Amino acid sequence: MEKRVYIETYGCQMNEHDSERMLRLLENSCFVETKDSKEADLILINTCSVREKPEHKVYSALGRFKKLKEERGAIIGVAGCVAQQEGEQLLNRVPYLDMVIGTQAIPLLPPMIQRVEAFGQRVCETGFDPRGEYLKTPLPPRALAKVKSYVTLMQGCDHFCSFCIVPYVRGRERSRSSLEIIEEVRQLAEMGVKEVCLLGQNVNGYGKGLEGELDFPGLLYCINETEGLQRIRFTTSHPTDISEELIESFSKLTKLCEHIHLPFQSGSDRILKKMHRGYTKESYLGKIDRLREICPSIAITADVIVGFPGEKEEDFRETLDLIQNVQFDDLFSFKYSPRKGTRAAQFQDKVEDQVKQDRLSILQRTQKEITLQKNRALEGCVEEVLVEGRSKQSERDVTGRTRSNKIVNFEGDMNLVGKLVPVQIIKAYPHSLRGENSRLDVMEKVRSFQ
Ligand code: SAM
Ligand code: SF4
Repeated sequence: MEKRVYIETYGCQMNEHDSERMLRLLENSCFVETKDSKEADLILINTCSVREKPEHKVYSALGRFKKLKEERGAIIGVAGCVAQQEGEQLLNRVPYLDMVIGTQAIPLLPPMIQRVEAFGQRVCETGFDPRGEYLKTPLPPRALAKVKSYVTLMQGCDHFCSFCIVPYVRGRERSRSSLEIIEEVRQLAEMGVKEVCLLGQNVNGYGKGLEGELDFPGLLYCINETEGLQRIRFTTSHPTDISEELIESFSKLTKLCEHIHLPFQSGSDRILKKMHRGYTKESYLGKIDRLREICPSIAITADVIVGFPGEKEEDFRETLDLIQNVQFDDLFSFKYSPRKGTRAAQFQDKVEDQVKQDRLSILQRTQKEITLQKNRALEGCVEEVLVEGRSKQSERDVTGRTRSNKIVNFEGDMNLVGKLVPVQIIKAYPHSLRGENSRLDVMEKVRSFQ
């Protein structure tokens, strides 16, 4: 009998992809996805513990689902970083919770559900998996394949930035074999996937510890040869490890999109050192210069933290200075959030929350202006857009992204989905672009793009 699963996902692309992997596994165990938690037989909350805010969301989500447990007997599970971190304690704290699924336990999900269903057990799996089974990705059923797909290159991280929980909840860096990755991309392209985004906390470290393996640029070169695939993206790069060879691949690989996400976290050398990031403001700027030299049109985005312990006004000004200097296309900015077990959580020189908030507001205002200017510079230009589907804003519009990863909405039919379409940008907004085309003209150009 068909059963329904509802998944709520918090956090990064890694978590989004893990949710997809869980869905694919469950599809083989007679589950279909539902977007309505009220009709679900199984509710999974895929959690993030990188900052305090998403961590708190888990408990309020659990509170919301308690009623569904009582009324319908739905099975409830918590997966992801909070599950890994809290383990059995989460079962003790939440008496109606059935499953705690650690970050390396996704392949165990179907047998865990069986144990709950058949024996009424409450189960917790948070061991690290030395055989690396957790890295394997089941392919989507052909009919459900989308235009874009994530592909896991590696999990975990060896960097141990002093603020970050990831190495503790995702384990040490571990790469998949390149043959397995290349084959997965080939199969996805055969199913009609046009764009892959290669995932890892530090993709530049790909292949480390694997005897005789390709390095990351080598892997990109092979993936670029995939028939039918149109675009390649990757995330995330660490500024210390980004090599000259990787930078050069932006000019050599036709399918590699002109966009890099290169988090800098702070513009102050003093703070970067306390963060244990392994680079200086100057060396970061050097990498940006080189990227722009090799690929002048490259879009650059980054992550930044304000209010790290000991951050003074002059450190914050260095961060603003770096932002003005680089002119990022967009930024993900966060208030520092102490994470239990990390080194920075023990630092005494904390920054007051109001100061963090004020700095965040100034930084975000600065960046908003830069992003808008960058977007305005595209007005009048024709951009190649990979159409992903119907726009959420209007039934008459479709939506897609440029090679530089900017969202474009324009009037168009659903038969454009999966196609590369040249679109003229007519209006820039802070978070998207408005495009326009004359349909006949576009269809001509669609053909010439393929
Ligand atoms: N691996 C990526 C890197 O090194 O840049 C980032 C991974 S992390 C999941 C995503 C972002 O969350 C980080 O770049 C950082 O800006 C932010 N972050 C991580 N720990 C944080 C903390 N304790 N407080 C605030 N932001 C944090
Ligand atoms: Fe966290 Fe640093 Fe690793 Fe990124 S590189 S995941 S910020 S420890």
